[in-house]
Amino acid sequence: MNDSQKHAAGSSAGNRAMSLADFQALIREMYFEKDVARGVDGTFMWLMEEIGELWAALRNGTHEERLGEFADVLAWLATIANVADVDLTEAVARKYGSGCPGCGRLVCTCADAEKP
Ligand SMILES: [Zn+2]
Repeated sequence: MNDSQKHAAGSSAGNRAMSLADFQALIREMYFEKDVARGVDGTFMWLMEEIGELWAALRNGTHEERLGEFADVLAWLATIANVADVDLTEAVARKYGSGCPGCGRLVCTCADAEKP
């Protein structure tokens, strides 16, 4: 990578809009070989650890730390989806693309006890 490419990547990485599909593909490109070698079980443990760190950041962390932990949880979720051959965009669209899976409405009207 030359200097102008580095500059372009650096200047766009901060707040560039990225679709869920783009993000899953990016995670696949960066980690897929390692992820497949580790497998679903080991990867799931990493996700659980990151969820614990997110919980800690939500309770006591800075906004910057929360940004990092949300990114980590999403990255590990994308990793598991890659290993399990699940398309996250398809998964989300099927379940939530037409509204709440419980009541079918865009703004959920399910009773709290019924919330999916
Ligand atoms: Zn609902």
